[in-house]
Amino acid sequence: MNKQKKLEVSIATQIAQALHFIDSDTGAVIPSVNFSATYARDQKYQPRKPYWYRRDGNQTCTLAEKIIAKLEAAKESLLFASGMSACTAIIQSLDNNSHVLVPKVMYHGVLQQFKDQKDRRQLEVCFYESGDLKQLAEAIKPNVTKLVWVETPNNPNWEVTDLRAASKITHDAGGKVVSDCTATPPSMTQALDFGVDISFHSATKYLNGHSDVTAGVLSTRKLDEFWEKVAQTRKLHGTVLQSQDAWLLIRGMRTLFLRVSKCSKTAMKIAEHFEHHQYIDSVLYPGLKSHPQHKTAKIQTNNEFGGMLSIIVKGTEKTAIDVARFCEVFYPATSLGGVESLIEHRKTVSGEGFPVNPRLLRLSVGIEDANDLIFDLEQALAKANSI
Ligand code: PLP
Repeated sequence: MNKQKKLEVSIATQIAQALHFIDSDTGAVIPSVNFSATYARDQKYQPRKPYWYRRDGNQTCTLAEKIIAKLEAAKESLLFASGMSACTAIIQSLDNNSHVLVPKVMYHGVLQQFKDQKDRRQLEVCFYESGDLKQLAEAIKPNVTKLVWVETPNNPNWEVTDLRAASKITHDAGGKVVSDCTATPPSMTQALDFGVDISFHSATKYLNGHSDVTAGVLSTRKLDEFWEKVAQTRKLHGTVLQSQDAWLLIRGMRTLFLRVSKCSKTAMKIAEHFEHHQYIDSVLYPGLKSHPQHKTAKIQTNNEFGGMLSIIVKGTEKTAIDVARFCEVFYPATSLGGVESLIEHRKTVSGEGFPVNPRLLRLSVGIEDANDLIFDLEQALAKANSI
């Protein structure tokens, strides 16, 4: 018999089609939003599987989770109401007194949460210089360290940590690695492939891509006791993603590959244009050959470098703030990963006590015309330097 070979399509195709979604009842190629908070039991008074109450999951969320699991090549993904609540679930799943290692410089909200939980949970939180594997190896305590948090590239300096090496160091010591690669979504970095135990993303950013949802997601290939605790925490804390948001996320993810490629290309143009500029001290972008971890980034981010970069302007903190406020195309707003470009004076946002250069401006490059963005920065820099 002539067996027909099943067509194997790429992940990009599968994601563009929301896993080739077709509604089995109607043939609709777009999923509906399911709003039900509860599910009727059957005639034998048994819960109908797989859902029985909203906090355990629902159709819309399950589809979004399946899409992310495909992107991450994970066994399971769990969506949360925000990135921060996904992070909370990880911290809550640690035993009291656990020893954890976190980067000194990373997204300030996550850093703050670890610091905040330190005393409440008697966690022993120690810090390492982001990207510095030697320091990580020295700080890790064999058979004691339970968790290493890695953010790569890290906010807002975009230093790159070698995920494979960090995972090896951590696993040799008997710990788990959680990676936050929010700045390089899984169309670029499949963190689990590098040995990471749990991949974290603020899905508010690139995964959604339209600045209209807050969401967080965790993915793993290891359905172990720790993962069960994480899932249980989500259920007990009730930090599930709302259905409408899951639907928006599904829609956003369909264009993930397209958006991220465009953002990466434009960010590279901007980085190259401003690398040796009269009003700029330095450009921090892993895509530049001059970036200290450029080679690692190249391997880890699939030869694209994402849409996030920072510029350190010459002058003073006021010059930096002036550049941000004089931009007319970039929005002077926080967050990242949307289709619209944002510029942010990071020190103003992260506040005192967070180590950030006061002249640093963080750019989240969207999908607009690259020349418009370059021109906008040029005029803002010129204006800020003329007053
Ligand atoms: N991790 C990173 C790298 C982030 O940039 C953010 C938010 O800016 C978070 C985590 C927190 O995610 P959320 O804002 O979705 O709670």
